[in-house]
Amino acid sequence: MDKPREACGVFGIVSEAGRGDIGYRLAVDTYHALYALQHRGQTSAGIAVTDGDTVRYKKGDGLVQEVFESESLKGLTGHMAIGHVRYAAQRGTSGVNAQPLVVETLGEQIALVFNGNLTNAGQLRIETENQGGIFQTTGDAEVILYAIVRKLLNTRSLETAVLEVMPMLKGAYSILILTKKKVIAARDPHGFRPLCIGKRGSETVFASESCALDAVDATFERDVQPGEVVVASPDGFMSYTSRAEKRCALCAFEFVYFARPDSVIDGQSVEISRYLAGQCLARRNPADADVVIGIPDSGLSSALGYAQESGIPYAIGFVKNRYIGRTFIQEAQWLRERSLKIKINVLAPVVKGKRVVMVDDSIVRGTTTERVVSLVRESGAAEVHLRISSPPYMHPCYFGTDIPNRDQLPASRYTVGEMTKMVGADSLAFLSLKDLPDTMPDLRIGWCDACFTGEYPVPVAMEKTKGDFL
Ligand code: SF4
Repeated sequence: MDKPREACGVFGIVSEAGRGDIGYRLAVDTYHALYALQHRGQTSAGIAVTDGDTVRYKKGDGLVQEVFESESLKGLTGHMAIGHVRYAAQRGTSGVNAQPLVVETLGEQIALVFNGNLTNAGQLRIETENQGGIFQTTGDAEVILYAIVRKLLNTRSLETAVLEVMPMLKGAYSILILTKKKVIAARDPHGFRPLCIGKRGSETVFASESCALDAVDATFERDVQPGEVVVASPDGFMSYTSRAEKRCALCAFEFVYFARPDSVIDGQSVEISRYLAGQCLARRNPADADVVIGIPDSGLSSALGYAQESGIPYAIGFVKNRYIGRTFIQEAQWLRERSLKIKINVLAPVVKGKRVVMVDDSIVRGTTTERVVSLVRESGAAEVHLRISSPPYMHPCYFGTDIPNRDQLPASRYTVGEMTKMVGADSLAFLSLKDLPDTMPDLRIGWCDACFTGEYPVPVAMEKTKGDFL
């Protein structure tokens, strides 16, 4: 698929049960939570735990179920844990970049997991290397870890070091840090990437998305606020605020595509946001049609919204194969093209002879869209009216997704009429930018929509070639 892909999901859990009497239960919780976050990254997975005496970890390339089997979880005993699933584009796809990153320094073991992308990682890396630092990975996580460890030399505590490092870090980051004594959660001052807090009895849980709280029977407590640092340990819970400048900018694309529909982010249900986008589309861009279908998964809720607003019957137009693993996904181009038909197949009786409204969440490179339109036509559709539940995707993202440079974004180079011909649809319409806020009525913080507007919340190196983040 030519969708943008997210660059990671994080999870953490802290028990007040104390040392030694909890076995590997939290590792199992983390494993289940990472399963729930698998959509945010399929390149590698990892878990680190502590029993108060040592930090143990396991990580590797692959899906969560490929990296862990029950025997390996049994070795991860302890009362605090963090976990990570990672997506990587071209740069650094090897296991060396798998997280958690774990270092030993100043008599302490520190494990870190990270979701996001620093816009000044290159500069920070060069500064560190010029002072003798040697990096073992190509990722931003190690840049952050290095900066924190260096601050730790001159500060009282790890949380103070994190707070002092935050003004140096530009861009998007949601971080969890595990030591033998505590878990520290930090969210960048713009809040680009989600991070929430849950409770399960006396246990504290952190997760990129609330769907991971549900997976471990935790209840949602609140979101980590942009610029907030939270410390959880068996002894209690503390919150600090970074001095870094704030301008809230949660990624609007979380609601369009990245997040799971059963997650609620900063007050806004992902499912409801997508449904509302479909309703807006139907009001502004009606079509004479017989049936509305959505492209799974993130087009489905918007298709339902479009159908209910327009009065055109909704139907399931595709069957999605849910058993395709990472290796298959990352094979050669010709295999990727064949894989589309294996991943989704059209339900021909639903579309045959019909005028079809087909709803998708976005058009990024456009290549998959063209092929899906063609599949629907081959299955006998009389007309295909494509409706996109987000505004035209015109600008690269620098905050933790693999969205390419502008040259690869058809919406930045072609008119809607030209794109209609390119994808082979009878008509094409996008959610308008002015309707975007109406799709996030419950969102409690500001948002980033730079890929639609080109107005970046923080300065970026314009037209940098994308695809080299971790
Ligand atoms: S540019 Fe787009 S994808 Fe990137 S953080 Fe902003 S809204 Fe999200």
